[in-house]
Amino acid sequence: MKPALYYLALIAVIDRRLDELHEDVGELPEQVHRARLAVEHHQALVTETRSIIEEIRAFRARAHVTIQELRDREQRLSEQQFRVRNNREFDALTREIQTVRAERERVEQELRNSVTKLENLEAILQRQEEELARAQQELAELEHALQLLSSDQNEELMQLQQWRQRLSEKLRGELLAEYERIRTFHPDALVPVRRESCSGCYNRITPQRLVEIRMHRDRIFRCEHCGRILYPEERLPELEEVAEAIA
Ligand SMILES: [Zn+2]
Repeated sequence: MKPALYYLALIAVIDRRLDELHEDVGELPEQVHRARLAVEHHQALVTETRSIIEEIRAFRARAHVTIQELRDREQRLSEQQFRVRNNREFDALTREIQTVRAERERVEQELRNSVTKLENLEAILQRQEEELARAQQELAELEHALQLLSSDQNEELMQLQQWRQRLSEKLRGELLAEYERIRTFHPDALVPVRRESCSGCYNRITPQRLVEIRMHRDRIFRCEHCGRILYPEERLPELEEVAEAIA
């Protein structure tokens, strides 16, 4: 039977690995979220540009008919001018012709402008579609990474949690509770003694205390400076030792 401190040290090793796993996965969901927002943003730009292009195309499809209609109307009004009975009627028709002609010229100008506008917008659309494709690619990669990590991690997490449970059954409840309490402010709540110092805070341990720590391995000694539990070895046990320890 190994001393309780050894099992606690194994729990500390498991916790260190669990913390690492949580850190690995920690960044990814946030990155996936940001990538998803980026895709939505690029998608909105593409949709907007496409709808403007559609509007211009629809205008161009209609414009020739509109221009022809305005021409016909102008023609009819000009013919009516030959049949007027007085100057007042003649002037009224002249004003109407001017209005129709101005409208036709406006549509013709807009039709000419729409060529350049379309060219510019299509270039913009192409850029936006490329950016959207890049954003979608990035999102897909991140989602894939998260998925892979999660499935690998789930397996490891479950194994570690199972080991941790088995080890904790070998410990007195107060001991584990004390360790958990220290862990709320020092994630590495149990540390090896290295070069006669606490390897958590690097403060020296007096020679007399060192002797005590090494002699009473069934007792718990805490660093007088930082409060971490001191493990009287140069290093913590290896994770690989767990299987044997709980066998
Ligand atoms: Zn310390």
